[in-house]
This record gives sequence, C-alpha cells and structure tokens, in this order.
Amino acid sequence: MATSSTTLLNLPTEILRQITSYIDYPSHLALSFTCRELHARVEDPNSRPRRTISTGNDRPYTIQDLLAIELWPEFAPSLGGDRVSRQMPSKNDFFACRYCCKILSAINFTNRHLNRAYWKRDRDEEETRRRDRSAWRICIPCGAAGRMHPRDKSYPFGGMSGGYGFTCVGCEGFVLERTGFEGEKVNFTCDTCRESNSEKKEPFST
Ligand SMILES: [Zn+2]
Ligand SMILES: [Zn+2]
Repeated sequence: MATSSTTLLNLPTEILRQITSYIDYPSHLALSFTCRELHARVEDPNSRPRRTISTGNDRPYTIQDLLAIELWPEFAPSLGGDRVSRQMPSKNDFFACRYCCKILSAINFTNRHLNRAYWKRDRDEEETRRRDRSAWRICIPCGAAGRMHPRDKSYPFGGMSGGYGFTCVGCEGFVLERTGFEGEKVNFTCDTCRESNSEKKEPFST
C-alpha cells in the first residue's frame, strides 16, 4: 500500500520560511538545529528582523529568548528533569549574559551569579520574578566593565568547574588566581600591570 506523509522535510522552502516567520527565535533556532537538511533549508535564525534591546545593540533575539534557550537540555545538563536543581552548575552549563546578550559557559560567571542558577526556574512565577537571578546574570568581563565585582578581594567563579580569581586594580581585567599567586600577595594586580608599575618605579635600573 502506498503511503504518503507530509513531513517538514518535504515541505516547499517557501512554506518553511512562512512557518519560521510565525515562531519565536528559540523555536526557530531549535528547528534549524534539528538536522542537516533543515539547517540548510530553514532561513538563518540570525537573519530575523533586528530588535533593539536594552544595551542598544540590534539583535534578532531578546534576553528573554536567551533565558529560554539556556534551559535547553544541551545547555543545562545540571538542571535535570525536575527543573529544581540546587546543584552548582559546571562549565557544561551555559547561561545568558544580560549585558552582552550572549550564551556563555558557566566558567564565565562568578559563583554569586551561578548560585541556585536553576532553583525554582519555571516553577513559581511570583518567586521567580522576585528572586530569580537569571534575568540579571552578567558575565565576568561585562561585570568588570561595570565594576560589579568585589575589589581587593578574591572571588569564586565557574561553579563546579571554576576556582578563584580577582579583578586587577590596574586594568580591571579578570585574573585567574593560581597557587603562589594569590591576590593578596600581588596587591590584586595582574602580571602585566605589575611589570609596567615596576618599570615606572625603577627607571634607571638596567
Ligand atoms: Zn557579558
Ligand atoms: Zn592589570
């Protein structure tokens, strides 16, 4: 018996394009990731009309789109099925930075921004609105630019995969703290800034 079935793959390209114009950015992106053929035939999600977001950058997605995408199982392996994980995320968990609007590995966030990252997500709307940190999570470089990180103090980052680091008092860059290079010992200054400081102090040394 001959059977005919319509699947996404045998729809004409124009129809596929019409479909993607009705769905939101996360669904469009997910569709384009489904398989190679759809990836080739579905319009590039990043060619969607630009929307101005709070930072003034024009992008085809909003921070809300990214907050939905960060809960995809591929991006949230620590989340688990019950969606109430209290576990600290690892480098395989990805989160949206509210400021640069990128999805980045947990290694790019301070533990303050990762604490209870998945707790209560999608569960209790009221609680989420009041306490959910997902909407204000900011990556380390953006936080450094906005002077959000502790000064003169080391701080943990990267959750289960991270360690300690500090913000250089000179260039405000993030410095990974390694054994024998604790922030206190170097006055919270990075190698580069320390070297240029000592050059200034000893102009006649050979
Ligand atoms: Zn950022
Ligand atoms: Zn520096």
